[in-house]
Formats: sequence, C-alpha cells, structure tokens
Amino acid sequence: MDLVNKTRTIRSDQLVADPYLNGNGTSLNNPLTLLENIPVAIYTCDKDGYITSSNKAADDLWGRRPEYGKEKWCGSWKIFQTDGITPVDLDTCPMAITLKEGRAVYGKEIIIERPDGHRRFVQPHPTPLFDADGKITGAVNMLLDITDRKEAGEESAQLAAIVHSSYDPIISKTLDGIITSWNEAAERLFGYTADEMIGQSVTRLIPPDRQTEEPLILERLKKGEKVEHFETKRITKDGHLLDLLLTISPIKDPNGIVTGASKIAKDITGMKKIEERKDDFIKMASHELKTPITSIKGYVQLLMNIYDEMSEENLLASRGTVRSSLLTISKQVSKLTRLVSELLDLSRIESGKLELHKTTFDLPSLIEEAVQDVRLTTSRHAIIVCNDFEGNVHADKDRISQVLLNLLTNAVKYSPDGDCIEIYTEKEAGNAVITIKDKGIGIDKGDHQKIFQRFYRAEGKSEQTYPGFGIGLFIATEIMQRHNGTVAVKSEKGIGSAFTIELPIGL
Ligand code: ADP
Repeated sequence: MDLVNKTRTIRSDQLVADPYLNGNGTSLNNPLTLLENIPVAIYTCDKDGYITSSNKAADDLWGRRPEYGKEKWCGSWKIFQTDGITPVDLDTCPMAITLKEGRAVYGKEIIIERPDGHRRFVQPHPTPLFDADGKITGAVNMLLDITDRKEAGEESAQLAAIVHSSYDPIISKTLDGIITSWNEAAERLFGYTADEMIGQSVTRLIPPDRQTEEPLILERLKKGEKVEHFETKRITKDGHLLDLLLTISPIKDPNGIVTGASKIAKDITGMKKIEERKDDFIKMASHELKTPITSIKGYVQLLMNIYDEMSEENLLASRGTVRSSLLTISKQVSKLTRLVSELLDLSRIESGKLELHKTTFDLPSLIEEAVQDVRLTTSRHAIIVCNDFEGNVHADKDRISQVLLNLLTNAVKYSPDGDCIEIYTEKEAGNAVITIKDKGIGIDKGDHQKIFQRFYRAEGKSEQTYPGFGIGLFIATEIMQRHNGTVAVKSEKGIGSAFTIELPIGL
C-alpha cells in the first residue's frame, strides 16, 4: 500500500533532482532520455496535455512518434474501449483525466490501434507531476502492453468453455491423483457434483479390484507419456459399474514440467453388446436371404428338368408338381421382397429419408385386406376381426398396411402351435386403436422395451428357430412415430402377446 501511495505523487523537481539526470545533462523537457531503451512504454505531457517526450518502447507501441508540443494526451493513432468497437475520445483518455483532475488513474484497460491497423491491449498508468509548491506541471504515463496476457486469458476462457460444454466427461487431476476439475458431463456420468469431487482422490471412482491401475497410470504420466484408449471400469455414485475408454494426457507448465493430467472418458457401456447384435444381424441376414434363394434355385432346376426331359403326356402328369413348385417359388420371392424392403426401410430411417404420402382411406377395409393377405400364408391360425371403428383416417396407407402386416405376421410366426389371432379396432380420443392379440410364445417382461430396438430379437433357444431380422418392430415404431402415433406391447411369456397401435385419425 505504501509503495502505491509513494508512486502516486511525483514532483517534477524530483525528476530533475535525480543525480543521474543531472549528471547526464538531462533537461526537464526530456526527462525520458535515460529511459529511452527500457522495454516499457513511457511518455510525458505538460500541464496542458501536450506530449513532451516518449521513449522508443512507446513509439513502437503506438507505431509512430507523435509531434512533441503539438499532439495532446496520447501518441496513439486510435483508442478503443476493451470491446474493440467503442472509440475513446482523446479528451477522456486516462492521461487527460490525470492532468485535468490532478490524480493518478490506474486499472483502466484500453485498446490502441496503430496506423497499420494492428491493435494492442494496453493498461495506462498516468501519474501527475507537481512542482515544489504542489502545482501540477505535467504527467508521466507508463503504458503496459497486456496483449499476451489478455490473449492467453481469452484462450483459456475459451478452453474452459469447451471443456464445460463437452459431451464427454473431462476431468483433471494432480500427480497425486487429486481431482482439480470436473465438468458437467462427468457430473452426469458419475452422478457426483463438481463440489463433491474436486479435492477428492480419483481412486473414489475406481473399483476395488482395479486400484492398482492408478499408480501405474500416474507413473506413465510423470514421464510425460500419454495413456490412450485405455479400456477399464469405473463406479458411479450409486454403485453402477461403467465400461469406459480413457485417454489421459499429461498437463505441463510453461517450462515443460508435468504438473497434472487431464482425462477424457468415453462411456462404452453396452457398445460391445451392440457389436454382438450387429454380428448376429449379419449372420441372420445372410442366412435369411440365402434360404429362399437356395429354395428358388432348387425348384427352378426341378422345373427345368421336368420341361427338358419329359414328353407331352408326362408333362401333363407332372402338373401338380409344377404348380406346387411355382407356389413355393412365389412364396419365397415374396419373402425375399419383404426382407429386402425391410433392409431398404432401415437405411431410409437411418438417413432420415422415410417419407410419408398421406391420403384419406377407409381403415376397416385396409385391415381386412391385410388380414386376407396373412390368412393366405397360414392354414393353422384363425384370424378373427372385431371392428368397432367406422370411417376414414388420413395417413400413409401403404405404411400403415406395412405395420399391420408386420404385427399380424409376427402373431402367426410366434404362435407355432396355431390357435386364434384376434384383431380389435376402436375409436378413442381422436385415435384409431388397433390391437392384435395372439396366444403364442409370449415375451419376457425384460424384453418388452428392447424388442422395439434395431436388431433386437428376444433371446432364448426357441426364438432362434423363428426367422427374422429383428427390425420389423423398429420400422413399425418409426412409421407410427412419423404419424404422431404409438406402438406398445403387453405380453406374458408362454401365454401370448397383444400389440396395440394408436393412430391419430388426422381428418
Ligand atoms: P423379427 O420378428 O424379424 O425378429 P421384429 O422386430 O418384428 O423382428 O420383432 C422383434 C422381436 O420381438 C422378435 O425377434 C421376437 O423375439 C419378438 N416378438 C415380436 N412379436 C412377437 C409376438 N407376437 N410374440 C412373441 N414375440 C414377438
């Protein structure tokens, strides 16, 4: 405090009384000759504000040398507020205030612009000079160039903002493993707030059987090494185990000394599961596509043999074989077409290109058509239609038909012992509500949500025997969502299932 007060009031005679100034014949008009080569910008003004001297650092900072005795207050070409836009009037610059009010003005920041357009952040320190009688004789101003500090500050503020808003958890820690920063994504993933974790040891997140990992990681970091793609497990606040992929980098000070580490975590819990499902899907898809092709090939070969080798009468006698072969081929071609359509729809959904073409149509007729189609595929199921809905809906007819066919085909497919399938339709609060009930194998409660996901097929030995891609319900859900509708399931293992779609009437 003392030091500050001392520097605030300098008498001009103290400058001339300086033995070095006198010894070197320095005149009061140019007391800065001695300071010419110091790397801090300094200039003086007389009591009226006219610049009387400036050292080389000041001229370099301004990008020019002002005309002494002619220019006032500051040698800068242009001055702006720190927003870089609002100009500062020279008459109100810190030096002007110092001379007008006879007091030092510290702590202000301004931007100065050189004639070549280059800008610098500057902190001026104008101090009034007084004569022996306490009358103001002028002022000396030291201009601190704080551009580097400002830019570094902005850079770290930007970095902090990026870390804060990152979707991935980012944590920093000391070389003793004490957490020093903890972003929002880390809060979400681990369930601990920043307040709960900063200052705590990172070992709090490590499962007991993995505690030996931390010293090894710290050892590598101390050597300046980065630990990349480190697959491990960590525990959340509520005790859940997470599969994480960590990238840990050493943090170095300006002298290159490792002072801590930053850690980016990627939650991969459940991802390998997805890979497994994708593998299963590829196996299933090739099997599903290969089976009808093999069958079609076989029957075409059979028909060609009959045609090539048989006489007219024998051909006539083979009519039954020809007809059943053609029927099988036709069925297999339909199956292939459906599988390929499902695959196409899947890629349309993934690229956001599943479009709806809405028209107004009679819903009970559409249901009847879908039921007729499915009846043709089974002789072991009775499909019973119970309709309490009359009239039209405004929707994509083909897509709604596709959803109905998918649910009806599933009802048939997953009721291998036959029995009846019921389809109920009613009106409820502006929606057409259609429920398809079967008495088939049913679905475990744990799978009720999952069966609507891509590639998901309820696990269990028996399901392996039912052909399918595991994408029909995913597509149905997408189609219903595009109509602002829903698909839901009620089911009990071994008892049967009821799938319900709610379609806004949309008229
Ligand atoms: P896919 O039948 O081709 O496997 P879906 O997406 O249509 O694919 O169905 C997903 C899974 O839901 C099926 O694999 C099956 O396990 C289960 N599922 C669907 N409908 C029924 C049903 N009516 N009864 C029993 N399980 C069903």
